[in-house]
Amino acid sequence: MIKKVQASEVRLGMYIHEICGNWLEYPFWRKSFKLNQQKDLDKLVSCGLDEIWIDTCKGLDVADGQKISVENPQSVKLINTDIPGQPVKKTVARIAVEEELNTAKKIQQKAKEAVTLMFSEVRMGKALEIEGAESLVEEINQSMERNPNALLTLIRLKNVNEYTYMHSVAVCMLMVALGRQLGLDAAQIKQAGTAGLLHDIGKMVIPNEVLNKPGQLTDEEFVIMKSHPERGWEILKSCYQVHETALDVCLHHHERVDGKGYPKKLSGDALTLFARMGAVCDVYDAISSDRCYKPAWSPAESIRKMASWKDGHFDETVFQAFVKTIGIYPSGTLLKLKSGRLGVVMEQSTKKLTTPIIKTFFSTRANAHILVEILDLSKGTDGIEKIEDPVQWGFDINKIQGI
Ligand code: C2E
Ligand code: FE
Repeated sequence: MIKKVQASEVRLGMYIHEICGNWLEYPFWRKSFKLNQQKDLDKLVSCGLDEIWIDTCKGLDVADGQKISVENPQSVKLINTDIPGQPVKKTVARIAVEEELNTAKKIQQKAKEAVTLMFSEVRMGKALEIEGAESLVEEINQSMERNPNALLTLIRLKNVNEYTYMHSVAVCMLMVALGRQLGLDAAQIKQAGTAGLLHDIGKMVIPNEVLNKPGQLTDEEFVIMKSHPERGWEILKSCYQVHETALDVCLHHHERVDGKGYPKKLSGDALTLFARMGAVCDVYDAISSDRCYKPAWSPAESIRKMASWKDGHFDETVFQAFVKTIGIYPSGTLLKLKSGRLGVVMEQSTKKLTTPIIKTFFSTRANAHILVEILDLSKGTDGIEKIEDPVQWGFDINKIQGI
């Protein structure tokens, strides 16, 4: 039985069904889990929550003391591909994000040129050539090994006119970052990145007036638009160099785990890990970018929106790994600190998602710019009060971040 209990009544052995409130605000990765460890109980207590939902069929009730041995199925459910629990082990020393930015910019530019050329040729009816795509993905992977935040910061830089190309580059980078987070091996990361780069190639055979229509599509136009995964699959299938993973992600990146996606309405185990990854990376980059038909949501807002969508849209484990990859406060988020200072998120902490590394530059108390300082919030000298809207403050976040 699912029941709501006072946070003060929670104890080890209970099965936490849901934390009342937005799970993104609390330092737990799973929405539901068996409370077995004292450190998790301490964490729950320190969150200052009032109430928590527990499942008495899977763990202890408030009143009883009996042990329940049912393991938490939600935390380990899903996927027909093994997901190793540990992120990729680093073999290269991590460098500061500022140090990696220049190299990352060059890689992004190179990727943009490659995708533009590849996609334009397909648009003109020529055969697809993916020469160089894999070595590009390898460069992306190496940059992420040095510091993933540089490329993850740059994916925000897009011009609405080149959206389809830059979106492909961004999804490629997000797939690599997510693959690393999920602990995939080098070959799988390469496949995931290449698949991201090619996932929307089918849009190249969609008439321009539909693809770049500045407003909402009619039902007929949306039917045409929704043919892009299958059209893309046909293009990729005719190219002998394309790996099965790219075909799979291209065809299935608009499927949903609840079977309400398209084109095949696949659900559950019928969807591979790569297709599930593609769905999350595609939607995140779409909604956090300006498109011809819709303005962008901020990165932090995009994550919150995706987290609020009903179960069944995304694979929960993949989505949670994705949040871990880009953060609850993604790079570029403007934050007001408890000290009254404003700062921009520069990179994620390797320790905790709730304590990113930020660049402070403004005092709301003095209403004036202050000496720029890089602050690691995990050190505990200051804390986050709330997210601020840079447009309302009139700040150019890209300039502050130096990108
Ligand atoms: P896209 O713009 O790259 O968006 C990819 C996917 O992100 C969408 O797939 C959808 O799942 C998600 N998404 C994008 N914006 C929103 C949003 O505001 N709310 C929610 N909940 N999800 C969002 P979808 O809908 O199957 O669309 C596929 C492609 O069709 C889009 O790729 C875009 O190229 C085109 N498209 C969709 N709707 C429109 C439209 O109204 N006008 C135009 N011009 N194109 C559209
Ligand atoms: Fe698509």
